[in-house]
Amino acid sequence: MVALHLVPSFSVCLLPVPHGAGQEDAEPVTGRPRSLRANSLFSEDELVEDYYDAPPANSGSSWSDNGPSPRLPAPAFSGSSPGTLGDGMEGTAATAPLSPTIKAGWLDKNPPQGSYIYQKRWVKLDADYLRYFDSEKDAYSKRFIPVSSISRVTSIGDQKFEVITNNRNFVFRAESDADRNEWIRTLQQIAEERKSKALERTLMSPTTSGAADPADKSGFLELRGFKHKLFVAVAGDKVFLYKNAEDYRLGIGITYIEMNVGNVKEVDRRGFDLTTPYRIFSFSADSDQEKEEWVEAMQQSIAEALSNSEVAERIWVVESNRFCADCGSPKPDWASINLCVVICKRCAGEHRGLGPGITKVRSLKMDRKVWTEELIELFHQIGNAVANQFWAANVPPSEAINPASSSQERRRFLIAKYREGKYRRYHPLFGNQEELDRALCAAVTTSDLAETQALLFCGAAVTCATGDPQCPTPLALAEKSGQRLQMEFLLHNKNSETPRLEVGTSEEKPYSVPLPSVTHNGFLYKTPSMAKPVGERKGQEEFSRRWCTLQDGVLSYYENDRNAVPNGEIKVEEIVCLVNNPPNAHGIESTFEIYIESERLYLFGLESPDSAREWLKSIAKSFVHPRAEELLALDFERIGRLHYKGGLNLERAKEGWFALAGSTLHVCFEDSERQEPLQLRKLQELSIQGDNEVLVLVERRRTLYIQGERKLDFLGWVHAIQKAAGSAGDTLSEQQLTESDVPLLVDRCIDYITQCGLTSEGIYRKSGQNSKTTSLLEMLRRDARSVRLKEGEHQVDDVANTLKRFFRDLGDGLFTRQWGQDWLRATALEDEEAKISEYRRLLGTLPTVNRATLKALINHLFRVQRFSGENQMNTHNLAIVFGPTLFQTDGKDYKAGRVVEDLISHYVKIFNVNDQEMKKQQDEIMAIMKMREAASSGTQQAGDFICTVYLEEKKTEAEQHVKIPATMTAEELTFEILDRRKIVMKEKDYWSCFEVNEREEAERPLHYSEKVLPILHCLGTESYLVVKKQMSMENMLIYLASRVGDCKHGMMKFREERNLLGLGLSTGFHDRYFILNHTCLRLYKEVRSLKQRTPLLENSHKPEKEWPVRNLKVYLGMKKKLRPPTCWGFTVFYENEKHEKQQWYLCCDTQADLREWFATFLHVQNGGALWPSETSKVRASRSQQDSRLGNISLIPLRGNESEMRNSVAAFATDPLTLLRNV
Ligand SMILES: [Zn+2]
Repeated sequence: MVALHLVPSFSVCLLPVPHGAGQEDAEPVTGRPRSLRANSLFSEDELVEDYYDAPPANSGSSWSDNGPSPRLPAPAFSGSSPGTLGDGMEGTAATAPLSPTIKAGWLDKNPPQGSYIYQKRWVKLDADYLRYFDSEKDAYSKRFIPVSSISRVTSIGDQKFEVITNNRNFVFRAESDADRNEWIRTLQQIAEERKSKALERTLMSPTTSGAADPADKSGFLELRGFKHKLFVAVAGDKVFLYKNAEDYRLGIGITYIEMNVGNVKEVDRRGFDLTTPYRIFSFSADSDQEKEEWVEAMQQSIAEALSNSEVAERIWVVESNRFCADCGSPKPDWASINLCVVICKRCAGEHRGLGPGITKVRSLKMDRKVWTEELIELFHQIGNAVANQFWAANVPPSEAINPASSSQERRRFLIAKYREGKYRRYHPLFGNQEELDRALCAAVTTSDLAETQALLFCGAAVTCATGDPQCPTPLALAEKSGQRLQMEFLLHNKNSETPRLEVGTSEEKPYSVPLPSVTHNGFLYKTPSMAKPVGERKGQEEFSRRWCTLQDGVLSYYENDRNAVPNGEIKVEEIVCLVNNPPNAHGIESTFEIYIESERLYLFGLESPDSAREWLKSIAKSFVHPRAEELLALDFERIGRLHYKGGLNLERAKEGWFALAGSTLHVCFEDSERQEPLQLRKLQELSIQGDNEVLVLVERRRTLYIQGERKLDFLGWVHAIQKAAGSAGDTLSEQQLTESDVPLLVDRCIDYITQCGLTSEGIYRKSGQNSKTTSLLEMLRRDARSVRLKEGEHQVDDVANTLKRFFRDLGDGLFTRQWGQDWLRATALEDEEAKISEYRRLLGTLPTVNRATLKALINHLFRVQRFSGENQMNTHNLAIVFGPTLFQTDGKDYKAGRVVEDLISHYVKIFNVNDQEMKKQQDEIMAIMKMREAASSGTQQAGDFICTVYLEEKKTEAEQHVKIPATMTAEELTFEILDRRKIVMKEKDYWSCFEVNEREEAERPLHYSEKVLPILHCLGTESYLVVKKQMSMENMLIYLASRVGDCKHGMMKFREERNLLGLGLSTGFHDRYFILNHTCLRLYKEVRSLKQRTPLLENSHKPEKEWPVRNLKVYLGMKKKLRPPTCWGFTVFYENEKHEKQQWYLCCDTQADLREWFATFLHVQNGGALWPSETSKVRASRSQQDSRLGNISLIPLRGNESEMRNSVAAFATDPLTLLRNV
């Protein structure tokens, strides 16, 4: 007899799920030591039983060699039978399989061949499997037979009955005829239902279509104690054990292990243990590589199993949510998120059939991202109890359904219940639309969700007019009243239909937007579906040829074109993404991937690209919403739906349709009419937040958050978008670009040279360090978006050489191969005018990006030569350097230089530079010249810096170039700017200089006495200075003058900057209590201290954190991507003596509160002096009014114009008058 290692091992608690207090009672912990596993007494056939084979083919099987087995010692597990109605929640995930038992009992199992002794077996039937066990306490079966494989159940006399599957029969003997008949009846019924269901739906569960198809990993493994290898399959949240591959194919296995109780541990090079509270399975793989794959697959399966229970357990906290709202099945793990009912899988299937206008079905298990805090809370508040009080107020017992009801019964019942509202409790106002609507408007401002439910489903219009212009919809009313749950409920029912009794043809009526019915068929190659991205290239042998049909919203695949029953189906409404792989990505020329809602993907292939394209178009057309049909015309590589947030409302995610074609992401937003293209290469930022949860795309003045609702397709999108947003090759148009179509790389270099290198001698002729140039170029090429060139870090000549190297190596060259010779030939034209017009003609033939780049470069060289007195690089010298570089010649052809020389000399004419542009150029050069002169006359102090400062907003007309001496204060700079633009400073015009950060998301008014130069030195390249009125100053002064005491305390929402390594989850905002006094800012976690507002308070508790005020730098506003809970926020930077930096974010509830905190900060930091008292005279005398400039409107701090009202105005006394005056 072979020793086995499958022992109960209760002493080891392996469950990451929390154990409830009462759980010890349900699962007594025995003291059985783990060492038992080494000398287990079990034999092979304790686990795997013989079977009765109708054909003798397998009769010689070693599995039945051993004869009758000794009785198992009963495991010490004495919990109630898993899955029965009565076992409640105490055991939770630890003990209960997800599928409820339909029938169970002791039966005699036909003896194996060569034996005459019947074996007593505990037989259990659930919706998916017929299983038998040694005892009712066993967790692992000796045999499982999928209900779907049962073709017949017949009576064969002597209280015996036979379960007939496609090629194996199992004979059982009951204790009585009655018992036998009951078994037959139940089995037949379940098998029958399964059969009818299999046709409709095979994808609801990984086990329904036979285990063979959706396995994440399958193959042979040694299981310690067994002579022969077992065939093991990891699928979804279970691990299945089969005797051999043939059994696997047939779906008839030994047992399966629910991975919610599993734990995987590597033991040695090839061995690993799968440990459960009941047994330890010691596996051994063929190689360590294989072992790693198995361990990974099993770990993933555990993760999947555990993620299940997380949401479900929270929903199940409410007693009534533990049973299906419709049929009463225990542990329902599906839900209708608009009806707020928790339902079982079988009812969920029928719910889907009603259409999303009636019920929106989501899984507690798989649709994790849907389950926001609000929605879970809503299920606590409404849930099955409150929902059924309304929906099932009058159900005649004859029409009610139970866990064993058939599909037809369920369907009939659910149509009556939800579509027709037949059993509902009518609201007294039923029939009176106006009254209903009015009542709804009232109800949503209260917490009475039951009333809202009753009104909504008795006809009140969710979008009815409230008559309140401030809050035109019930949703807005609910928002204003702070009723989050009402909002959540209204949102999920935005498009819900009112139930009504239909006469006659109710079943045919379309309840959702009908998708066009697309029909397509043919042979496709297919691999088994996967729960992971297609990691590696699939060889042709991994594909099987299948006959596929796309019809009536279902893509079915068959063994061959003569089969009537499909091997499997994909419902098009469940498709979330379709990916067209590049040619030859796999062993078959054209392949495409289909992603479905339940996190699986299907890989299909075809040898003919044309036919593949037809399939793609047909599938796309069948699942893409009609409002996004514009996308279908694109040559997309990826198309699908995703959740996003953007614009003003960051609270709520919306559903949009996205298509990626080349480097453009086309989006059909929920509320827009047309698709909008996003140029990914022109993004200012592209980053991932959280644990691969949100993709942030920042465009000029717009930020889009794409949310990873599902993991599988989202990761694919992230990858594809990142790739499309990077440079794709070595030609100009393949680079990351600026708004004006100049490669970001070129722009970064030119900018840097302009700031730091215009007067550098021999600029562009001197060579930099080769290694530095190489690495800088590589860095910029990889992702110029993330590179910031800084003085001190980079040498001017290295940057100059990087730019030259880029052009020299450019694929196709700046002038293009096609036209390059024409440019060179143009130099031969003697007539100057003719030559210029030829250059202009040639310029017109260049692709947009080349043209924009050439202009930017020549403009730059034009500036460089203006400084030839300093840098020795006149037009001719520049032309000698750049000619061969740009034309990629060896330098012997003088014509290349001539072209460049001509372009610089005739820059204005050739590039059609208009007066305004020229003026700007002149101004800038003048400013630079002035600075040079000042320098040469010796008045300039060391460290002088030239800087662009804006007046009121960042736009070219408002630019001023100012030399910043080391001594210059913010007040002096403000004077300088106002003076230049001749602006009179009126009383109570608090003109100040602000430091505005990169995305105009945060700003800081400089204190009047603050020195400007140090600020410039640490200013990010995209930050800038602007002089404008400080709208809040007067109110701050009034506040400070009127308050009592000089400290402030109160609640704010607090968030820390995440770990810079990018690991760990985002922390979000949390309420904290703050005290700011004259020396420090303190943070308290405890809210209770709020109640005693005494000055003693600050000494009475120890703060959680404390910072000296002097070391803080406070900015108004914060990064939008943090999704601040209110728009009254500020960002605080802290740097200690050791130069360690921290940064965090604070949000106030009101504008006044923000103003008071900010005023207190300024007060404390500047010893009370917020505004100079003696300056107004001086200032007023210096300027006269310039009405035009005085009227320039303020720019939004954040994004678009309406956002402006929220942010800029946040700090103004009366934002509306401010805007009206503009
Ligand atoms: Zn149900």
